[in-house]
Amino acid sequence: LIKQLRAIVGDAHVLVDADLRAPYETDWTRRFHGPASCVVRPASTDEVAAVVRACAAAGAPMVVQGGNTGLVGGGVPGGGEVLVSLTRLTRLEPVDDVAAQVTAGAGVTLEKLHQHARAAGLDFGVDLAARSAATVGGLVATNAGGIRVLRYGSMRAQVTGLEAVLADGTIVSRLTGLAKDNTGYDLTHLLTGSEGTLAIITRVRLRLVPLLPARAVALVALADTDAALALLATARDGLPTLSAAEVFYADGLRLVREHAGLPAPFSEPYPVYVVLECAARTDPTDALLETLAASDAVVDATVASDATGRTRLWTFRETHTEAISAAGVPVKLDVCVPLRALPSLVRDLPATITAVSPAARPIVFGHLAEGNLHVNVLGAEDVSTEVTDAVLRLVAAHHGSVSSEHGIGRAKVAWLGLSRSPVEIATMRRIKDSLDPAGLLNPGVLLPSGSSGAAR
Ligand SMILES: Cc1cc2nc3c(=O)[nH]c(=O)nc-3n(C[C@H](O)[C@H](O)[C@H](O)COP(=O)(O)OP(=O)(O)OC[C@H]3O[C@@H](n4cnc5c(N)ncnc54)[C@H](O)[C@@H]3O)c2cc1C
Repeated sequence: LIKQLRAIVGDAHVLVDADLRAPYETDWTRRFHGPASCVVRPASTDEVAAVVRACAAAGAPMVVQGGNTGLVGGGVPGGGEVLVSLTRLTRLEPVDDVAAQVTAGAGVTLEKLHQHARAAGLDFGVDLAARSAATVGGLVATNAGGIRVLRYGSMRAQVTGLEAVLADGTIVSRLTGLAKDNTGYDLTHLLTGSEGTLAIITRVRLRLVPLLPARAVALVALADTDAALALLATARDGLPTLSAAEVFYADGLRLVREHAGLPAPFSEPYPVYVVLECAARTDPTDALLETLAASDAVVDATVASDATGRTRLWTFRETHTEAISAAGVPVKLDVCVPLRALPSLVRDLPATITAVSPAARPIVFGHLAEGNLHVNVLGAEDVSTEVTDAVLRLVAAHHGSVSSEHGIGRAKVAWLGLSRSPVEIATMRRIKDSLDPAGLLNPGVLLPSGSSGAAR
């Protein structure tokens, strides 16, 4: 098989030495790692198809990887798979400014996509802190969310078509980007969020949004999560330009400041902080200030409209993932509850976690408008399963989702049943079995390998 793979992509792009494979075999969190039989790096859709055909003929399972910034272990091997890296599929086609769409290779990073769209006077609606490495293919495969879902929706809302290689090497393509198209099953959206289990995405047709040059950011101090929700309601009502509403807490800010050596944003600490961003064609600062003044929930606030000041305020929120990772290997949970249930979840989380692991240190932050919290637990590595179980059961009791944006990957497979019914899981299994009957694509990701059907 390795000989065949070399013939397809060239010797330099089949990595078999342990040292060369290593960066691909451990995920961003360092919690998930496994050996690959080799890493193969195709550079075109045809090469991906040939690689998949060769692996399928040899009965070799594959794991699909983009930028390897996923946080649930979905893009690293479980053990012995051929790792197919898509980072060489970096072709960006010219922006279609009439349709406001662009076609991008699966390996294009989010940052490069932003630069490309902006150079054409448009923008891309999804943004997240891993922008320099996360790829278009990974973002689509995980239906990534990020900091602008409030305004533009998650990846699913941006994808108008895609091209992918099925588990037998067939190329399926729908890249016309039609705004209206009711001609049967929507394969594009079936593959969006499928976490590399149904096909390998090679190219994507993406919707672009207007480039809004005028921005204002507020960092707001509040008494509790109820106050954060009250501020959100006021901001949604009064600010049509609102594009982000993010939340973090006092202990997260402390950790970020220690890690990055940042000064305190206010003269004294507060329990809860919300970052609000407004984006428009004309300066939204006055409207943002008026809204803050009108909200009884605001205890203190600082506003920036220049680029340096905006970045400074965003840094307090965006450095959380990095600061937590520098402090240890966290148990990472990414949950979502109905907004009304958010204060109760935040109140119950610490006791739920310390009941399992008294020395554990939970750090919580997230996307306020979607009720999406990233629950990171430091100091609980030895009891990660127990902590995960306790938190996800608490989330289920609040009628929430056990994964709101990172996906199920390998990390959450055992808890899928807390969010999806047995009938739903059986239906997903039937789709998986029909598209990948030998279970070769990302085995053990999203659905347990070997639980039914031919996918073992
Ligand atoms: C600092 C930081 C901040 C983050 N913030 C956010 C956030 O706000 N919102 C959010 O949603 N996520 C966030 N993430 C998670 C991560 O960036 C996203 O899940 C992203 O979509 C992963 O893209 P990737 O290219 O790195 O994919 P990878 O990590 O390589 O893979 C992720 C999954 O997609 C599959 N996959 C990758 N490429 C393909 C392809 N071409 N075809 C089929 N399957 C594929 C993999 O098999 C795997 O299951 C963050 C991560 C970090 C490190």
